[in-house]
Amino acid sequence: MENYLENTDFNKIREVLDKSGKIILTTHTNPDGDAIGSSLAMFLYLKKRGFSVKVIIPDLYPEFLAWLPSAKEIMIYEKDPGSCKKIVKESDLIICVDFNNLSRLNDLGKVIKKSESVKILIDHHLYPAEDFAYRISFSKISSTSELVYDFICESGYKNLLDKEIASCLYTGIVTDTGSYSYACNYVKTYLITAELFRLGIDGEHIHRLIYDTYSESRLRLLGYAVSDGLTVLHEFHSAYIVLTKENLERFRYQVGDTEGVVNYALSIKDINLAALFMERDDHVKVSFRSKGNFSVDRLAREHFGGGGHSNASGANCSMSLRKTVERFLELLPEFREQLKHVYND
Ligand code: 5GP
Ligand code: MN
Repeated sequence: MENYLENTDFNKIREVLDKSGKIILTTHTNPDGDAIGSSLAMFLYLKKRGFSVKVIIPDLYPEFLAWLPSAKEIMIYEKDPGSCKKIVKESDLIICVDFNNLSRLNDLGKVIKKSESVKILIDHHLYPAEDFAYRISFSKISSTSELVYDFICESGYKNLLDKEIASCLYTGIVTDTGSYSYACNYVKTYLITAELFRLGIDGEHIHRLIYDTYSESRLRLLGYAVSDGLTVLHEFHSAYIVLTKENLERFRYQVGDTEGVVNYALSIKDINLAALFMERDDHVKVSFRSKGNFSVDRLAREHFGGGGHSNASGANCSMSLRKTVERFLELLPEFREQLKHVYND
């Protein structure tokens, strides 16, 4: 198997880790399966090694991840900033997983930025920031969970992998690849997956826990999003979904309820760019997805102050919902030709 950790700061990180006392793990706002899965896998591994370790994240994780081992131990900064600040202050090492810039952590990011603890990054997004003393950043990979798998094995602790850690890692890979449908054209993704099954995970059951646990209102929100909420612009090979605050309230929106919705817009034949615009209290949450070589990371970064991966990106815009959608529509003519041919062959 190719070693993902070659040409990274891995060896240095191992030394730093061995000398650490109090460790914090953290991940991005609006956390997804890979964010929580890779954090908890690392948490369980470090605990098994006898470290004092805490997971602190900026805001709530979705209910469909609450079954993950030790999820209940995660501390939410938004809920208890005082205790979280104290723990950050007392830490000597902060391991940041599945994001590339502390700005992705909102207020918790500011607290961590100020902290004197050593900061380490383990991530698979493009363009990692300079906020970290050491970085393991590799973008040609399905998920941060795969990097965590390698991290544990290359550290010489493959023997500490168990069914619980494997369930966390599998959740990260399944969710970041849309159940092995994108970002997974790599042999190693499947070799690691095979190892996780050898550790005893129940893949079918995990799939049910993640995807077959919708509330009725979540399914109805999806129904609304792909009917009334959807606009298809065949001329630009694009489709987008708009959800206003009113829509979200009507369907009793809960954290995680719109996870995956944008992919339905991309599932239309010949649609190569999809967007979801969600009106929140003080900003608009934007999700972009694309097929082939059209980079939505560039689109999000250059025009909406966000970022992500080449085929999946996001942004949080301070403009109004109407202005944000208008901005998107103004850009489309510029990309008309690129959006016609997203595959090289
Ligand atoms: P999603 O649309 O699922 O929220 O995010 C898709 C991808 O884009 C994820 O990898 C996520 O980390 C990244 N992303 C989402 N929102 C932002 C953002 O506001 N800024 C940056 N830099 N990346 C984002
Ligand atoms: Mn990820």
